Amino acid sequence: MNTYDQLYIDGQWVAPVRGGTFETLDPSSEQPLARVAAANAEDIDLAVRAARRAFDEGPWPNMSGAARAAVLRRIAQGIRARQQELAELEVRDNGKPLPEALWDIGDTAGCFDFYADLAEDLDSHAEQPVALADERFSSVARKEPVGVAGAIIPWNFPMLMAAWKVAPALAAGCSMVLKPSELTPLTALELAGIAHEAGLPAGVLNLVSGLGPDAGAPLAEHPGIDKLAFTGSVPTGSRIMQAAAKDIKNISLELGGKSPFIVFADSDIEAAVEWIMFGIFWNQGQVCSATSRVLVQRELYAPLLERLRQEAGKVRIGNGMEEGVLLGPLVSQSQYDKVREAIGRGREEGARLVHGGERPAGFAKGFYLQPTIFADVPEDSWIWNEEIFGPVVCLRPFDDEAEALHAANDSRFGLAAAVMSRDLPRAERVARKLRAGIVWINCSQPTFTEAPWGGYKHSGIGRELGEWGLNNYLETKQITRYDSEQPWAWYIK
Ligand code: NAD
Repeated sequence: MNTYDQLYIDGQWVAPVRGGTFETLDPSSEQPLARVAAANAEDIDLAVRAARRAFDEGPWPNMSGAARAAVLRRIAQGIRARQQELAELEVRDNGKPLPEALWDIGDTAGCFDFYADLAEDLDSHAEQPVALADERFSSVARKEPVGVAGAIIPWNFPMLMAAWKVAPALAAGCSMVLKPSELTPLTALELAGIAHEAGLPAGVLNLVSGLGPDAGAPLAEHPGIDKLAFTGSVPTGSRIMQAAAKDIKNISLELGGKSPFIVFADSDIEAAVEWIMFGIFWNQGQVCSATSRVLVQRELYAPLLERLRQEAGKVRIGNGMEEGVLLGPLVSQSQYDKVREAIGRGREEGARLVHGGERPAGFAKGFYLQPTIFADVPEDSWIWNEEIFGPVVCLRPFDDEAEALHAANDSRFGLAAAVMSRDLPRAERVARKLRAGIVWINCSQPTFTEAPWGGYKHSGIGRELGEWGLNNYLETKQITRYDSEQPWAWYIK
């Protein structure tokens, strides 16, 4: 068993003040994988103070964007140099298949390179003139780092979710305290080591592993934090927002979803099967943007269901390290129990189980579950409306575009949506009417560092990735100058 019993604070690896640790498990074997440092409020306070010093006194926010970019690029190189090893660590900690983990780590490095470019751009774009109607004045709008950022992330894409926050925050000139999920803390801890080797100044990035209530809550409540960036579930997001309200902290939230996928009858059936499967079964369905509600136009409904059933039966389940495995174990016992409970609920609610729903044969250990398909799912049922966060897809038929749009938008979530049709004007029209922050046409899930990511409604506040992700970590200041020699004439007439 590996040991990760130290926190990374102020550029040094230090034991938690109270010496606490917790275990992270390998979800394929249910065996302990590593013993990890458990931060509590005292450690969080030390980390926030270090980040505060690094921001208020350190060189980082005042360095040129180009100088910050050089460090970000070295972090990207450090990640790439260890891509295979980090991907294997991600598989063991999270359970995902190795090819998906390799994607994640490649994207993590790409994210640092992307924000290195934007950091460089800041040198020439941080100040923009503002045209004023009154020519006695001149004004510029200037982008400045927001300050000390606190980041709390989930377990489904452990290193990539860290990068989505760390890379833009560092590019902007912020310092950060990052708390990874207690279920998958290992690659984030490795990231701290890579950043250290890349020459990131002490205190700019602080890595505090720990449990949600013991480490996450004190971070969210800490008055030394200027900005909180959270990715996780809606109930925790709501708690974070309440904590942030006390000090009027700037927040961004990336929360859950129950994303619809509208498939019109003119779609190619094989393409529809492929994207529906990818949309809900990759990463074991533990994807915030998973298209878990599929609406299929009636003419295509029965043949599509049959093809889906056949293909789901061929999905190879197993340890993510084995070649050809598409579906690894779920991340934890509690996640496994939650998804099984949801499947039981679906059965009780009268949804028709077309495939799966059980633990696959031959697995004595590990949080394995068959890919699961429910058809004719009642629209007022729990499984149609609530996020399951597992390999469970719900299907319903529809007759016309208006009905599909109404059903798709009839949700308290609004993270993502997908539409498939050979009639591109129709697909484009529907895409514009879907109430979601991300809409895919003729595909589901491909995600690009350059494009904005985030949700409507209960799915969150703000956008990550692209220039929008950088803006998350920037304040805008106006600097306005009086250029006239004339008195202002408030009292001098
Ligand atoms: P979670 O809310 O249980 O935990 C997320 C993080 O919050 C963890 O680090 C956890 O330790 C921490 N936490 C828990 N309680 C806390 C508290 N009281 N105060 C502060 N921090 C606390 O979510 P999860 O189970 O890790 O992740 C799954 C959820 O994340 C799903 O709902 C999924 O849709 C969502 N998600 C969203 C996106 C997105 O981009 N919108 C991406 C990935 C995951």
